[in-house]
Amino acid sequence: MAGVVIIGGGQAGFQTALSLRAEGFQESITLIGEEPHLPYQRPPLSKGMLLGKQQERHAILRPEDFYTAQRIDLITGQRVTSIDRDRRKVLLASGGEVPYETLVLATGARNRPLPVEGACYLRTLGEAAELKQRISAAQNITVIGGGFIGLEVAAAARTMGKAVTVVELAPRLMARVVAPVVSEHFLQQHVAQGVEILLNTQLADLSADLIVVGVGVLPNDELARDAGLPTSNGITVDAHLRTPDPHIFAIGDCAEYPNPFAGGRIRLESVQNAVDQAVSVARTITGNPAPYESAPWFWTDQFDIRLQTAGISHGFDQVVTRGDPESRKFSVFYYRAGALCAIDSINRPAEHLTARKIIAARASMTPEQAADESFDLKTAVN
Ligand code: FAD
Repeated sequence: MAGVVIIGGGQAGFQTALSLRAEGFQESITLIGEEPHLPYQRPPLSKGMLLGKQQERHAILRPEDFYTAQRIDLITGQRVTSIDRDRRKVLLASGGEVPYETLVLATGARNRPLPVEGACYLRTLGEAAELKQRISAAQNITVIGGGFIGLEVAAAARTMGKAVTVVELAPRLMARVVAPVVSEHFLQQHVAQGVEILLNTQLADLSADLIVVGVGVLPNDELARDAGLPTSNGITVDAHLRTPDPHIFAIGDCAEYPNPFAGGRIRLESVQNAVDQAVSVARTITGNPAPYESAPWFWTDQFDIRLQTAGISHGFDQVVTRGDPESRKFSVFYYRAGALCAIDSINRPAEHLTARKIIAARASMTPEQAADESFDLKTAVN
């Protein structure tokens, strides 16, 4: 019997299978991933695994017997080459076919390539193992890209005692998502640890022993496009994460959807987004549809600084800081057209949890209240 087929054994694909069973789904579930591993999570790849604090097994989401026990047909090391929407089948590189009643595209994203010969990238477990080994063997490392992944790699390599240079095209770090005060703080912390940071710089000194490229990702939306489904910055889906084909959904890094917190369509790259969209689609498939409206959140660890964000800051026109960045513990509140839209917390984990509630509740708070440390943030949501 043709049940649910999920393409992509990453965070979103895995969670869809898990949540379908949790929601009582009884039909068959087939999870097809092209990577050779059991489904795993990516955050440790650029953090604990590079530092040797975590091993491959820590990234694996569930052991193999979990899939048997949950009656999830897990197919690893197998690429889906096309979708036959008329016959409702997916075609595998091996030549096999898998029929579906409902198809979930959770194909994620891949690294944006740069024409730099011999450079390392970081997206997969295989790349993480290679990068770790090449960092160990190198003395001088150049990281191209001052975004989250590039800076996490830089922090890990520097912690391992390497000479590290980060080359960033923009005038500040993580410019796509954080306010200047946050960029400046991370710049200072990296420099204090001995990382050289070159801003406004396109041409790197490519004489380093190792060049790591971390300049963002491209959504894996070709399968959908080739099947005649609309794509722009990812696979286009509606508020229920459904494509115009009622049998096909798309979630996670590959999907562009209307996000009420962004005030428009957006494609997000985060664990929260992958997991919550999977839960939402599982509910829709099992007969409890509701528009996807989870509040976004995200984190990054660099040296001993943890940045946690709640909400979507893009388009912000006002920023207020709560706490003193000198203390290395502070939060930043972003406003768009007078409304609070995002909160970044730096080494303030408890405040981040409150921030998530504030953003989710779309609670209002004046910039003066946000900046006033004697104002209890919890009162905004209680
Ligand atoms: P993916 O995890 O990319 O999984 C998609 C899978 O589909 C891949 O395995 C791919 O091989 C497979 N696939 C694609 N096409 C096909 C096909 N045709 N046939 C079969 N299989 C296919 N987020 C955070 O919130 N916090 C963090 O700290 C954080 N750190 C990160 C660190 C690193 C190094 C990376 C790379 C990402 C990090 N992220 C972090 C982002 C987060 O991991 C992603 O947003 C999340 O993995 C997205 O899940 P996904 O399932 O949509 O996509």
